Amino acid sequence: MSERVLRYVEELASADLPAYVYDLSALRTHTAEIRAALPQRVELYYAAKANPDSAVLTALRGAVDGYEVSSGGELTHVRTVVPDAPLAFGGPGKTTDEIATALRLGVRRWHVESEHELQQLAATADGPIDVLLRVNLPMDGGVLDSVALAMGGRPTPFGLDPTRVPECLRLLASPEFERLRLRGIHAHLASGLSATEHLAVVERVVDWTADLAAQHGIRLDEVNVGGGMAVDYEDPTHRFDWNAYGTGLARLLDSRPDLTLRIEPGRAMTAYCGWYVSEVLDVKQSHGEDFAVIRGGTHHLRTPATRGHSQPFVVCPVQNWPHAWNRPTTTATRVTISGQLCTPKDVLAYQAPVETLRAGDRIAFAMAGAYAWNISHHEFLMHPHPTFHHLEDL
Ligand SMILES: *Cc1c(COP(=O)(O)O)cnc(C)c1O
Repeated sequence: MSERVLRYVEELASADLPAYVYDLSALRTHTAEIRAALPQRVELYYAAKANPDSAVLTALRGAVDGYEVSSGGELTHVRTVVPDAPLAFGGPGKTTDEIATALRLGVRRWHVESEHELQQLAATADGPIDVLLRVNLPMDGGVLDSVALAMGGRPTPFGLDPTRVPECLRLLASPEFERLRLRGIHAHLASGLSATEHLAVVERVVDWTADLAAQHGIRLDEVNVGGGMAVDYEDPTHRFDWNAYGTGLARLLDSRPDLTLRIEPGRAMTAYCGWYVSEVLDVKQSHGEDFAVIRGGTHHLRTPATRGHSQPFVVCPVQNWPHAWNRPTTTATRVTISGQLCTPKDVLAYQAPVETLRAGDRIAFAMAGAYAWNISHHEFLMHPHPTFHHLEDL
């Protein structure tokens, strides 16, 4: 945790807790490093679903070529917050209204997930649309066996089965589909991939696309390999190796001068900039284990509950104890940190090592900048929402 964030956490008014603190300055530095590690020819889009906070989207604008949106809601929001930015519209199950809205807002790049969607788009498009077919590619060689969340390479509702691709190509070649310009292939197959694993996926997708183009005698010059770059919640300092990834991509692009390669990470871009800050309400011992109950919980930061991990955190001791009675304090070297919800699932960190923890101390959970507030079930138990804070560049 930087000195600056620490000071901010210490100085937050009690009434502002729980709080989300987004370090936009750190975000800008981190994303500038990502951009610098990638070959110029690689287009970097940000997957808005990771965190659509307006200030976060704006802070990213300097580093990204565009934004990937996956719903009508994200589409109108991102269009309003960063009006000049190119958008790519993806996501399974697009409604007729969403398609109409996207066309009205001038979205010209689509990730099409099915034949039905292709038909709908052809029937409504009023001008030229660049289309990538999202394909659920078979992944052999065990590349996806070890990853946290696989969206492809096995039966899923995402994208086209490879056996349906020839039919889509036939449709796209017919006169009724002339407004849809097939540019290439989209494949977001997994999340939690290391740089080496991601490069193996990229190579596979690029080869598959080249084979498809050769078989059908067409040009497929764009490949979007999605996001899914790994984030290590056990060790915030252990980050995706963007330099190795960039070097690998550069090598691959050297042999394919006509290829436009696009990536659309979410988590690995914004996870590190967010902190969820709160205070310990109570500490107790139960059947031989220590528990600290914080104000707030997984209804604000659902990430540890959905992924089954312990969210990394920093304790910021608060000396002041205003009461006449003894301060509840940990007696063990490990403590489970839970929230205010009446469910045993409301655990943010399980048997985490701590030196000491007392009621009134503050806790700042790290890596809360992606899939955190926006995936949480805010209304459960009707606790107040957190406050939001953005640390700008100095
Ligand atoms: C969620 C998603 C992403 C971003 O994935 P991360 O794991 O956050 O990098 C990119 N593309 C598509 C199609 C997605 O659904």
